[in-house]
Amino acid sequence: MSENQNRIINIVANDNALSLETKRVLKLKLEKNGFFVPKEFDHNAELIICVGGDGSFLRTIHSFDFPDIPVIGINTGHLGFFQEISPYELDEFIFKYNKGDYQIQVLNTVCAKIATKNEDCELFGINEIGIRGNKSRTVHLNISLDDSFLERFSGDGVLVATPAGSTAYNYALGGSIVDPRLNLLQITPLAPINTTAYRSFTSSVIVPPEITIHIYPEYTFENSILIISDGIEYRFNEISEISLSLSDKKASLLRFHHYDFWNKVKSKFL
Ligand code: NAP
Repeated sequence: MSENQNRIINIVANDNALSLETKRVLKLKLEKNGFFVPKEFDHNAELIICVGGDGSFLRTIHSFDFPDIPVIGINTGHLGFFQEISPYELDEFIFKYNKGDYQIQVLNTVCAKIATKNEDCELFGINEIGIRGNKSRTVHLNISLDDSFLERFSGDGVLVATPAGSTAYNYALGGSIVDPRLNLLQITPLAPINTTAYRSFTSSVIVPPEITIHIYPEYTFENSILIISDGIEYRFNEISEISLSLSDKKASLLRFHHYDFWNKVKSKFL
């Protein structure tokens, strides 16, 4: 009898042909090693293997509501910040996993508490929470850090990014790349207006983990605001306040010893 009997591993894949083929081969290899791979997602599993790009990793974590189970990504996408393993390294991955030759990287998430006239709700982001105007309208956002007023922002919106999200949309907007060992939030403007009429910071603002960012929208012609968590868009009417802070919800990633964040950054961006 295999020593891995009763050990359950979920495999989640996107619809790309390489992902589906990788999933098929991986399932066979895991079963040969004694693991059980269920057809449907099993919350009792010890590991989730996500086959796809970084976007698939984000969608997996959101679809299964930030599971406590660690995730390892097999990269069939482009960048592979979350997705560490190549589809051609499956045997090496199973060998190292069986030996326990890995570490767990905990990813902090950002929480947005949204208060409107009619409801309160919470959204979570692994990469970021974006706040922008509906129908491409300019938004005016009064931003405070705890009780200290920072600015009246005018422009397309702002992004509040985690260190893990610093290499995603935040980077495309000119935000800083943050070493994932740091614990902070980065507020990055989207097309800030900086004229004699409106004054907004044009660079990112970086705040420590204990700070809560309070955003109070002002309304002129349009009272809807879009809140975007990791690319998933929600529309709200008459938001009175959005409070953003680091959250207790985490995602856990399996990392093998050769993973080096700055090597990944150099190989993908330079
Ligand atoms: P998506 O197609 O799933 O992702 C857009 C691109 O962002 C893909 O190339 C994806 O890599 C990459 N990506 C995701 N997380 C990353 C990370 N932490 N570091 C580096 N690259 C990362 O798009 P989506 O469903 O709209 O949104 C998912 C994420 O995409 C958002 O959280 C946001 O950060 C990012 N996004 C970026 C832009 C931009 O750069 N202008 C615009 C919108 C959204 P893979 O190809 O490997 O999946």
